[in-house]
Amino acid sequence: MGYSEEERAFIEWYPRGYGVGFKVKERLFETQTKYQRLELYQTEGFGKLLVLDGTVQLVEIGEESYHEVLVHPVMLAHPNPKRVLIIGGGDGGTLREVLRHESVEKATMVEIDEMVVEVSRIYLGIDRGAFDDPRAELIIGDGVKYLKETEERFDVIIVDSTDPVGPAKLLFSEEFYRSAYEKLNEKGLYITQAGSVYLFTNELLDAYKAMKKVFDRVYYFSFPVIGYASPWSFLVGVKGDLDFRKVDVSRAPEKLYYYDPERHETLFQMPKYVRELLEKE
Ligand code: SAM
Repeated sequence: MGYSEEERAFIEWYPRGYGVGFKVKERLFETQTKYQRLELYQTEGFGKLLVLDGTVQLVEIGEESYHEVLVHPVMLAHPNPKRVLIIGGGDGGTLREVLRHESVEKATMVEIDEMVVEVSRIYLGIDRGAFDDPRAELIIGDGVKYLKETEERFDVIIVDSTDPVGPAKLLFSEEFYRSAYEKLNEKGLYITQAGSVYLFTNELLDAYKAMKKVFDRVYYFSFPVIGYASPWSFLVGVKGDLDFRKVDVSRAPEKLYYYDPERHETLFQMPKYVRELLEKE
């Protein structure tokens, strides 16, 4: 698992021996934080690579293939998102994309691991100044505890977490979905990444099933994300009568590279057998 000095490569191994790897020029940083093992590499062709507990979090060149898709579809499906909560997302990419929306008055980010934020700010800089935006609030803490206790209400909640193990496990539980539903305003959207379509199908089905018990409507979609075992899945939970199949294209930020608001319907692709499994739930 991980880095091979001999091969000068980092490979993330998924179940059944499926690997996603990058040729590495240099190992830049490695530390054990309070929560996870953090590694940073300079790759040959994709800029810097951030790894947590052996799993690829992002590569600098292509990270927008994840962050644009996690953020803009829900932000454009909501008519006027002013208050946004991000859980996880320590690298700042999600916060950066959220703050591109002028309607946002406050974006709160709750990240459990301060080291991820620090290392990302110093070595990666993909937040492109987002942490210094006066609308941004950074809370270091557990998103599960925060959501349970907060008195704030949100228009959009974005879960940009690691996979459902360790500190992120509870972010995929029915109980957590219930507190998210409660903390959304009367009309609101919740989105979470939900793992590799082919390699974490059971986890996707479990999360979908649990979300359906809680939200008024649940949507699923997939997208090819650079650095992950693609296609990657996303689940959207709706409170109230918002329609996630419709987005306000006029509010779309300029210069998007991956998500195409004018072709929003193309998001909803899912391999047939996975769609059939989801529809059985
Ligand atoms: N933006 C990245 C990408 O491109 O895939 C995704 C991952 S982001 C670095 C994931 C973050 O979720 C990690 O920094 C991790 O510390 C955080 N996290 C995991 N469990 C958490 C929890 N319970 N509360 C808050 N943050 C959590």
